[in-house]
Amino acid sequence: MVLQERKSAMTAISIVNSKMDLRVNSISQAHLNTWDICQRRYKYKFLEELSLPEADLQSKQSLLLGANFHLLMQQREMGLDVMELAESEAKLQSWLNAFATYPPEMIAGDRFCEHRRTLEMPLETFAISNDPNRTQTPLHHIENNDAGQGYFVLTAIYDFLILGDRRAQILDWKTHQRAIAKEKLETSWQTRLYLYLLAQTTDYLPEQLSMTYWFANTATSVVIEYSQNEHDRTDQNLKKILNEISYAQDYLKLAMGSPECKHCEFRDRCDRGDLSNSEFPSNISDIPEVEI
Ligand code: SF4
Repeated sequence: MVLQERKSAMTAISIVNSKMDLRVNSISQAHLNTWDICQRRYKYKFLEELSLPEADLQSKQSLLLGANFHLLMQQREMGLDVMELAESEAKLQSWLNAFATYPPEMIAGDRFCEHRRTLEMPLETFAISNDPNRTQTPLHHIENNDAGQGYFVLTAIYDFLILGDRRAQILDWKTHQRAIAKEKLETSWQTRLYLYLLAQTTDYLPEQLSMTYWFANTATSVVIEYSQNEHDRTDQNLKKILNEISYAQDYLKLAMGSPECKHCEFRDRCDRGDLSNSEFPSNISDIPEVEI
């Protein structure tokens, strides 16, 4: 099975800009969510590109199953007979059956699967020029051989996108064990970045956009509407966080006993103890799922 598009987005991607021939670091929702949780985790994951240890085999299997479901959903949209393909895995079959029986509400319009959208964000628009600590070359770019880069490229790959007459709808397939609360989804960078990118790269007003999460295990949907206020708030947050990422130097660990460390793949490296099986991860990014 070819999962190249999604896999390529799961790491800190470098792409070549044909105009300037500079290597550019893409920023996805995974980068932003990780930065919000822990800067040290960001460093391990995206700058040093460390992978999951073998002890997290279960997480790897969950990721693979989720990725295969996304692929089947893509093939289903192309009109292929996916039930036959899913026969080898009971979970995939049950998820496909759930979608056939309880699909999310979808608007009419042009439909796109695994749709990539990017937006260039120039560094100078959010650099703090009069801050004496901001005069050095951003470390983020040194570690990625990107010295001289003047911008980030925000990147999103939509599981499913429908562009209608007066509305556009983003759909995202989730294979978590249980549905995630709407409040958590609303503050997740996946929601905020996906809606922001769509508003910035189309003629739709923010109020004409929405994002629907569909949970395969419960066959339930969570719908999040967008607004100009939310768009402005995300714009400010993005500029702030990209500025921080650009000039980061220390990548501090979280304090001992922080709940985020309990389910972190780097807990051994950080001397933060063994994985606790007693609690469900509190953060959306800690739950095994395909991350872009
Ligand atoms: S174990 Fe804790 S401090 Fe270390 S990377 Fe993970 S979240 Fe950060």
